[in-house]
Amino acid sequence: MPKNLLFQFDTDPDPSTFDTIVGHDGGADQVYPYGGVSPQTLGQLVEGCIFTRSPKEKQHTAIFVGGSQLAAGEALLAAIQQKFFASFRVSVMLDSNGSNTTAAAGVAFLARHGSLQGKRAVVLAGTGPVGQRAAAMLAGEGAEVSITSRQMARARAAADAIASRFGCTITAVEAFDNCARAQALQEAQLVFAAGAAGVNLLHEEDWRDNPSLQALTDANATPMLGIAGIDMTDRGVERHGKIVYGAIGFGALKLILHRSCIGRLFERNDLVLDAQEIYAIAKESVGEFT
Ligand code: NAP
Repeated sequence: MPKNLLFQFDTDPDPSTFDTIVGHDGGADQVYPYGGVSPQTLGQLVEGCIFTRSPKEKQHTAIFVGGSQLAAGEALLAAIQQKFFASFRVSVMLDSNGSNTTAAAGVAFLARHGSLQGKRAVVLAGTGPVGQRAAAMLAGEGAEVSITSRQMARARAAADAIASRFGCTITAVEAFDNCARAQALQEAQLVFAAGAAGVNLLHEEDWRDNPSLQALTDANATPMLGIAGIDMTDRGVERHGKIVYGAIGFGALKLILHRSCIGRLFERNDLVLDAQEIYAIAKESVGEFT
């Protein structure tokens, strides 16, 4: 049988070592990391992937798109797909900065506690890759979603980008500091904290005494944690009467999901794994956790 070859196209100059390792762990026999890949430099890389193997063997070649910038990753995914035609295609997955797998794991755990339809959800610091995807997935579950940023212009730009990609409405909120972010949680039931590594977004008292909040998830595993008062290993435990998830607690599903998605890329040659597809797999996989 041909070897499973994963071509890792990263939009940053240095390809992510995390993505290389998970590529191997997910089932690739060999991972080829490329940095600084853009739609302009993509041509021969994709042609090499689609023209080399016979139709029956093409499923053993796949592409992974990563990098720190979600918009750049989305542009690369679109450019890759434009190169495909007829059966000259291979399966491809987008996960810039772990955006899809991290958001999918976090939201799938929240959805396990009951329908999110009509719930008010706030994605704190939701302008990054993980926050944007979490907002889209929460909206896909029927939640009314807001994203905060320290700057209104950034919140609006991210909300517009999510709306244009997923056709949902996201409310932009400016919240410069912890006090303003606590204010943004009035009347909210759900919080997904998606701030940069090591940045605290909420003090414990900012959420502890909020009567409307039902569940909180923090994606940041690097001290200072994004939400003080949540342990990074928390997985669906109750604190102050609310269900909470820490980054390592729900991150176990993120890793399982990332590996599972890589494995699926080699099952056929026409799979495209982006937000909706990865979220659907997360909802299947979350049942493995008690
Ligand atoms: P990111 O792009 O690095 O940052 C997200 C947002 O944080 C930024 O857009 C920025 O928003 C805000 N921010 C930056 N510095 C800040 C500061 N000093 N004060 C307040 N806000 C600040 O994050 P990401 O790549 O989307 O990742 C989100 C989180 O998920 C990170 O903590 C990352 O480490 C974590 N992560 C977890 C897992 C897991 O398995 N648990 C996997 C991958 C990533 P504004 O400038 O708009 O305010």
